[in-house]
Amino acid sequence: MPLIARIALNRPLRRLFDYLVPDDLQLVPGQRVRIPFGRQQAIGLVVEIGVEPPAGINLKPVAGVVEDWPALPPETFRLLSWASDYYQHPLGECLFTALPPALRRGRKAEEKTEEWWRVLDNNATLPANAHKQKALFDWLSQHPEGAPATDVLKAGFGRAQLNALRERQLIETVLPPLQKAFSEEPELLARRPDLSGAQTSAAKELAPPSEGFGAFLLYGITGSGKTEIYLHYLKQQLGDRDQALVLVPEINLTPQTVARFQRYFGRRIVVWHSALNDGERLTTWLRVRNGEPVILVGTRSAVLLPFTGLRTIIVDEEHDNSYKQGEGFRYSGRDLAVYRAHLNNCPVILGSATPSLESVYNAKQAKYHLVKLEERAGNATPPVISLLDIRSRPLEGGLSRPALNAIKQALAKGEQALVFVNRRGFAPVMMCFDCGHMVECPRCDTRLTYHRRDRAMRCHHCDYQTAATEHCPKCRSDAFKPVGQGTERTEDILATTFPDTPVVRVDRDSTQRKGSIQGILNQVNSGKPCVLVGTQMLAKGHDFPNVTLVVVVNADGGLFSVDFRAPEQLIQTLLQVSGRAGRGTKPGKVLVQTCHSDHPLLKTLCEGQYLDIADQLLKEREEGQFPPFRAMAIFRAEADTMEKSLQVLDAIKPLANSSDVETWGPLPAMIARRADKHRAQLILNARNRKRLNSLLTGICQELDQRKLPNGARWMIDVDPQETG
Ligand code: ADP
Ligand code: ZN
Ligand code: ZN
Repeated sequence: MPLIARIALNRPLRRLFDYLVPDDLQLVPGQRVRIPFGRQQAIGLVVEIGVEPPAGINLKPVAGVVEDWPALPPETFRLLSWASDYYQHPLGECLFTALPPALRRGRKAEEKTEEWWRVLDNNATLPANAHKQKALFDWLSQHPEGAPATDVLKAGFGRAQLNALRERQLIETVLPPLQKAFSEEPELLARRPDLSGAQTSAAKELAPPSEGFGAFLLYGITGSGKTEIYLHYLKQQLGDRDQALVLVPEINLTPQTVARFQRYFGRRIVVWHSALNDGERLTTWLRVRNGEPVILVGTRSAVLLPFTGLRTIIVDEEHDNSYKQGEGFRYSGRDLAVYRAHLNNCPVILGSATPSLESVYNAKQAKYHLVKLEERAGNATPPVISLLDIRSRPLEGGLSRPALNAIKQALAKGEQALVFVNRRGFAPVMMCFDCGHMVECPRCDTRLTYHRRDRAMRCHHCDYQTAATEHCPKCRSDAFKPVGQGTERTEDILATTFPDTPVVRVDRDSTQRKGSIQGILNQVNSGKPCVLVGTQMLAKGHDFPNVTLVVVVNADGGLFSVDFRAPEQLIQTLLQVSGRAGRGTKPGKVLVQTCHSDHPLLKTLCEGQYLDIADQLLKEREEGQFPPFRAMAIFRAEADTMEKSLQVLDAIKPLANSSDVETWGPLPAMIARRADKHRAQLILNARNRKRLNSLLTGICQELDQRKLPNGARWMIDVDPQETG
């Protein structure tokens, strides 16, 4: 009986393609093959091998294999198959996402590397007459990591000596080191503390379970020394040949984190993030695939790498939104990390000072083992948070007098202050005080943000921008003014108020140039008085020991949002920014400016016990029947008119008709028009995740058969992070 292979292609198709397997080919799932496809050849991945060719259909044979081993090893393959089903994304696209771009196009899975040589046995003795060999041996001994052959030849040695020493088994060829070391600030090198009592007992509780798999939620307040625990944990648990994965939300913003890992593990630390080029991607991917014992520190997509000896997974700042892919294959890197640990039968640690409500809930259900770390490391104490009612106070650049005074005091003591503004640019809108006109984006239902530095008005939802004007574009009045706060405006006020102190702005605009974040961090790490002004970026994992004051310009943005996740995200952001204060030896203080100082959510913030707040928020989720008490998915549609988008979703709604699934909508999205597309959504909220999954599978298959209104698209998002 001839065998058939079911092949996945890198196309947005919810189907596989059948081919005959020639007798001389041995195929396994996850392997790359070349197949005839239409008039061309395509690269495919083997999904299944079956014995029954369908009757009456003439199948073409597989043309050949690209390599005789599976590019995607078994656990990686199973992870992606599972994810394809769970997130309802076509299997072919999921599988190909896990290949580096070069391999998607069919290139050979080979590293283009230089030849490197390294000394095997340092104490070897050579015959007295082998002068040149001895000289080469001594020279190589001075390069413990090895040296490229080109350098050996340049130094005046020859092939003959290399070969002779190899025959004596004194030297060997090695792979070149994978990546250059991150730069390190000298001050950082000194920090390598022993674990405190609290850290030690937390680390004990994290000991890997005997059954292999185990999920831990490490709740450690900001500055409690979680990173230090990860380092000790890996040092203790990891064998010399083991691989580990450390997921982080961002790498480029927090180079110190990688530097800290390198302090402990040197070249074993390898990074993975969006700024790697195709060559670096291929090399790193291959080394991971070949089982090199790396500790890989990477962003979201690192969870899809082809590890073969994975023994531990850590997900730092597990609550962070950037773990969820926002388009295409909309997976959650954190959730896949937990599933991956399950497949690899290894422990996974989710760490955060503000864990997601999903994870807190899982800990309550005893799915995760909760480990608490409720004191700060070293001599640091948690910051004191207080609300500053600004209802009837005059503001300058969004800052009240008491806030400015507090900054002044901190600077006078030689300390640093951090001011958090949730908007980049100068002001969120330009408004005419004569006719009331506000400048809107011509392509979106939003207003244009005024960027004074670039004299531009920009849309933050599409790439539209236009030159800023001094007069109202509608009535020509010159009473045309910026309204509200952005980072640039606050920066200006601070610079005028404190002319002798550096004011450093940190937002997407100021950090776009390569290396600029490093310059900013160096300035802050110098410890000299300065004021940092910035967005969310400042909340992420930074460790600035001399920041003693944090001012939140306005906390009210998320208080009244329609998105059910808004309160959780507001609290997480506020606690994370607050957590930048007082991490060193001096105590920290946080001032939160608000017009709603009696709002219960803000009041509990000051008491500062995140798990208590999380409990409260979970109760509200349960009452509202939201995740994690329900399983949610969103169908989104976009088209050149709202009618078409709603029409697509109206047609889906009856397909979702089921006793245990509620449907909400279809409704226009919060920003109904974006980049000239009209967007709508239909929410499915189910009691049972499995039921929802099988319902979605059916709906997606059905939709693939249907003809959509011209120019309309639909998308599915399982476990959505944004519901607006
Ligand atoms: P987290 O990741 O929980 O925010 P970090 O691991 O960054 O905390 O630690 C916060 C600060 O405390 C860092 O400057 C770190 O070097 C320091 N630190 C951590 N553990 C200890 C310890 N046991 N003794 C002294 N300082 C420590
Ligand atoms: Zn006007
Ligand atoms: Zn726009």
